[in-house]
Amino acid sequence: SLTAGVIAVQGDVSEHAAAIEAVAASQGRAVEVHEIRTGGIVPECDWLAIPGGESTTISRLLAREGIDDEIRAHVAAGRPVLATCAGLIVLAHCADDRVDDLGLIDATVVRNAFGRQRDSFEAPLDVDGLSDSFHAVFIRAPVIESVGSAEVVARHDGRPVAVRDGPIVGTAFHPELTDDDRIHRLVFGDQ
Ligand code: GLN
Repeated sequence: SLTAGVIAVQGDVSEHAAAIEAVAASQGRAVEVHEIRTGGIVPECDWLAIPGGESTTISRLLAREGIDDEIRAHVAAGRPVLATCAGLIVLAHCADDRVDDLGLIDATVVRNAFGRQRDSFEAPLDVDGLSDSFHAVFIRAPVIESVGSAEVVARHDGRPVAVRDGPIVGTAFHPELTDDDRIHRLVFGDQ
């Protein structure tokens, strides 16, 4: 059976857990989902989700608990990670030095950069690997400003809003907030 973890500092922890359970069930596999607030659990996990929230707070906890190095090892072992919104900020490169970014996604993000008029918005997206559009919910989302070796898997108005880098998929939006687990399936599908 599978073990999964959701970083549980803040954000949509139970929504990610529910989507992970749905993906495992669709594969006919049992999964145990752990809420992660301390070091020592990520090494047990096959799958990992890093929700939104405040990237400064999340990155501080990861560093304090040594979870940052555990995530590096998880990715180095080729195990999948879904990082949403603040999760994307923490795993990519972010110029804001209040964020201890891990730099595991080769892309640069700018926090809260969609602007006040567009603090929160929803939009249908074409996502690589999905045949029908995905209804994306953006909440104080980061802008993906530049992309290095990561691969862009979705754009909105021409700007990248989802990237894949090895076993990591990072989204500027919140796929856990809609009743549609296709993004979770894309990440955790073939594992
Ligand atoms: N604005 C948050 C940050 O910069 C991210 C927003 C979110 O995760 N919904 O950390």
